Amino acid sequence: MNNKNYIKEGYKKNRYAINNKTGCWSWLLVKNKKGYGQVGYCGKIWQAHRLSYIKFVGEIPKGMCVLHKCDNPSCVNPEHLFLGTDADNARDRKAKGRNADFRGSKNPNFRGGREIFASGGS
Ligand SMILES: [Zn+2]
Repeated sequence: MNNKNYIKEGYKKNRYAINNKTGCWSWLLVKNKKGYGQVGYCGKIWQAHRLSYIKFVGEIPKGMCVLHKCDNPSCVNPEHLFLGTDADNARDRKAKGRNADFRGSKNPNFRGGREIFASGGS
């Protein structure tokens, strides 16, 4: 399988599960410590939500971050993503009361993701 087909076919079908309750597309493959999906693309390791944003929405301006409306780091639904700066990200986290102590298990969206993970994962 060449790399292009791998991305084209694999990205959609096997890499995330759609949570009907939240609408989140929960990443099913490799995740980093913070719960962000990771994917190899064009010889680079990408955060899956950033790649999703690029694929479905458009380019990410230099210095901008792709943030989650849904607070689910593993979510790659482009409709749940928005652009912001690091400062926005920190402010957003604070506003939602999940600063340094945040863990995925406290996030209801995350639990939904895990259900899918358990039943649909490899
Ligand atoms: Zn989401």
